[in-house]
Amino acid sequence: MIDHRRLGRDLELFVSDPLAGAGLPIWLPDGAAARHAVEEYVRELERRAGYRHVYSPPLGKRELFELSGHLGYFADDMFPPMRLSADDEFVLRPALCPHHALVFRARGRSYRELPLRIAELGGMYRAERSGVLGGLSRVRAISLNDAHTFCALDQVGDEVREVLRLIGEAHAALGVRPAGLRLSLRGPGQRYVGDDASWARAEDLLRAALDGVDVVEAPGEAAFYGPKIDIQIVDAAGRESTISTVQLDFDKPERFDLSYTDSDGRRKRPVMVHRSLVGSMERLFAYLIEVHEGAFPAWYAPVQLLLLPLDAAQADAAAGLAHRAEAAGLRAEVDHAGSLGARIRDAARRRIPYTGVVGPREAADGSVSLRLRDGRVLDPMPAAQALGLIGAVVASRSAALLPV
Ligand SMILES: [Zn+2]
Repeated sequence: MIDHRRLGRDLELFVSDPLAGAGLPIWLPDGAAARHAVEEYVRELERRAGYRHVYSPPLGKRELFELSGHLGYFADDMFPPMRLSADDEFVLRPALCPHHALVFRARGRSYRELPLRIAELGGMYRAERSGVLGGLSRVRAISLNDAHTFCALDQVGDEVREVLRLIGEAHAALGVRPAGLRLSLRGPGQRYVGDDASWARAEDLLRAALDGVDVVEAPGEAAFYGPKIDIQIVDAAGRESTISTVQLDFDKPERFDLSYTDSDGRRKRPVMVHRSLVGSMERLFAYLIEVHEGAFPAWYAPVQLLLLPLDAAQADAAAGLAHRAEAAGLRAEVDHAGSLGARIRDAARRRIPYTGVVGPREAADGSVSLRLRDGRVLDPMPAAQALGLIGAVVASRSAALLPV
């Protein structure tokens, strides 16, 4: 049975130490390298799609989360406030929306700026009970790929469709295979903010954006402030969860009194679209580790090229090639320890996509013999050609190990 917790330990991607606390995993260098590559990709994808990135702190004053409605409607999922003094209490945020509302409010806004897309890969916290925690799939400290678009009502349809397109593009690059789309609606027995007319209008807008898309309606799964489209995944144990989401919110613009000046000079209320392309880094990697069984596509493999000198005489040549690979933007390592057969087996165990053997002949003429993770062995080729081959696969973000 594939389990990201066991693979994460075997591949040294992350560690869960009881001393640090349950649901508070630590990313080890190889896991961090893979995550870094994914974060850079997502940030660039967003930048090209017109998002502006910000940084905001993972905690804020109690009043901020009273205003946002989180303390009124979501307190059960939050850590208790921290009191510094009688009138100074802080809250670990359960969402980034309140800070992003403040970004919108930082100065006057014009209709010309809309849609204003504010993005951040930011930290947030959920007080999950210890019984449900495990590895990266359920955690208490969450690094969310998040964004909020502030737009006019008549821009919502295009914005939601564009978010769905970006989600599809990111999933294809990462190797995410969604199990389905869900339209999450209000259900009985829960508390929601906002009036019925706003909810009905938000649902109509999402339905219109989903025209022609296969979707399952899920009453009771909405956010407390609005309906959402959720893109679902199923993990190796068959558990379903949400990886990507688009949510409509008429409530927070009211609470934060957000407005922009329209073309006719009047002040108007924007709509807030909450969206995540790939969810939290934790849940995303719990899924990616399992779906790829640790063998990530080369572009986010922690080590892309492992160089194996045949013996000590080729150590300098292998180190030189590793430096050239790093200078070309690749992640490379040299492994000297043990027999060649043992090192090749260890590279396979670590799911390293490319292994380069450097023997006396390769050292003499500046070539390398590449072995692919799937067992294929290529004829010796000049080092520059080998680095070009790997670089082309990485740049294409392909799951294949050879350029198409
Ligand atoms: Zn939000």
